Amino acid sequence: MNTQLFINNERRDAASGKTLDVVNPATEETLAQVQFAGEADVTAAVAAARTCFESDEWRGLTARERGDVLYRAGQLLVERRHDIAKLETLQNGKPLFESKIDVAMTAETLKYYGGWADKIAGDVLPVSNGDLVYTTREPLGVVGAIVPWNFPLNLASWKVAPALAAGCTVVLKPAPETPLTALALAELLQEAGLPAGALNVVAGDGPLTGAALVQHPGVDKIAFTGSTAVGKQVMRSAADRVKRVTLELGGKSPNLIFADADLKAAVRGAVNGIFYGKGEVCAAGSRLLVERAVHDEVVEQLAARAAKMVPGDPFLKETRLGALASKRQYDKVLSYIAAGRSEAELVAGGNPARVDGKGYFVEATVFDNAKPGMKIVEEEIFGPVLSVLSFDDVEQAIALANQTRYGLAAGIWTSDIGKAFRVARAIRAGTVWINTYNLYDSAAPFGGFKASGFGRDLGSEALNGYTEVKTTWVGLR
Ligand code: NAD
Repeated sequence: MNTQLFINNERRDAASGKTLDVVNPATEETLAQVQFAGEADVTAAVAAARTCFESDEWRGLTARERGDVLYRAGQLLVERRHDIAKLETLQNGKPLFESKIDVAMTAETLKYYGGWADKIAGDVLPVSNGDLVYTTREPLGVVGAIVPWNFPLNLASWKVAPALAAGCTVVLKPAPETPLTALALAELLQEAGLPAGALNVVAGDGPLTGAALVQHPGVDKIAFTGSTAVGKQVMRSAADRVKRVTLELGGKSPNLIFADADLKAAVRGAVNGIFYGKGEVCAAGSRLLVERAVHDEVVEQLAARAAKMVPGDPFLKETRLGALASKRQYDKVLSYIAAGRSEAELVAGGNPARVDGKGYFVEATVFDNAKPGMKIVEEEIFGPVLSVLSFDDVEQAIALANQTRYGLAAGIWTSDIGKAFRVARAIRAGTVWINTYNLYDSAAPFGGFKASGFGRDLGSEALNGYTEVKTTWVGLR
């Protein structure tokens, strides 16, 4: 495995010679020592991206040619899907079947934006004096993309693909825990025909590498996915140069089960909503709001299902709960579980686990009788921990759902279609799932309200974040 940085279509060592240990969280073994980009490497990567942007190498291609490169990269990824899925599981700890889903979605996203490249169009505007006035969408420039460790490849593609489709060039900074598939993505794009400098990958940490990218004067926009706390820092730092920013941040998403729902499906959805991805999912349905009339039945079914989600070797076919992505995250989740034990009633899980005596595993955990104000209800845990709250009527359900500083996603389970739409309209969140949960598609915009951030990944919406609108006015008299 090549562990060098990817700058200007070349693999390079970091100027400092420092490395980052990438650890397999399921075995605690060091997988690789990846070159650790410092300020000098970020500057080299931004210079490569800037030179490419100012040349005709990428932006000067026809939009259709740019689209072809993205489409080809998607096809190459499909060919290499097994190896890349394994790499994702090794560095992140998620079950292999989940990594396969991530890789498939990444390939779709590359192809989807390949299709968009030649459809980024403007308008002709009916101004009152009869002149010809039209808008065009121009590539925004050099994009710094910063992503977390929970969906390392997929989230990178959510930013890289639309940015490249729009004609921007990119410096991608993966999370220090999971740089391997981001480096693999850059190699695939190079093989698909991406010119030097159009995509650069600087593996490194937040305070040094990430901050250098955010502060760099050669970067026009930061596309950030991560925690709300770091998102605020990014926004402050970007303000100095009026750098564009989009922020995809945390969540504490409510999943509402009404008494008239198909309870079996709702409980299955609640389990998928919190335990898929080990709960290290920004849109995880971490607050389950249950109508009191069916509360006992729901909690009983939930606890039974959670007990069956035994942490296991991520490479085994039957494993549905892998290892948390890092020791840091494992410690954080266990500290929330300790808080939960003193605040609410533990009905499933609650313990760390080992697989073959190793790894950062945590049991599928459910707390009942949770209430607003509790730590496990207010804060994003980002792990396999569910808090169950009860409500008596629709108004209380809506109030509880919105009683959070976040607004990323929500779920609604009911057989009453009118109620489903009314509640969906009342919830302040970027995505609402009705009678389903945790579904994503390249065509469906994703992002937050409130402290969950602003701007959208995916869909045609994402392209707006990588283009500037130019109005051209032609005097006709
Ligand atoms: P984090 O904010 O600590 O780190 C995210 C990325 O930012 C990493 O690459 C990190 O190295 C970098 N970073 C850290 N400090 C930085 C700084 N000062 N300047 C620049 N970059 C810096 O988040 P995390 O713990 O890695 O990821 C979990 C968080 O991400 C959760 O809050 C989760 O909800 C959020 N998330 C959101 C979405 C979404 O689409 N809304 C998706 C996935 C994860």
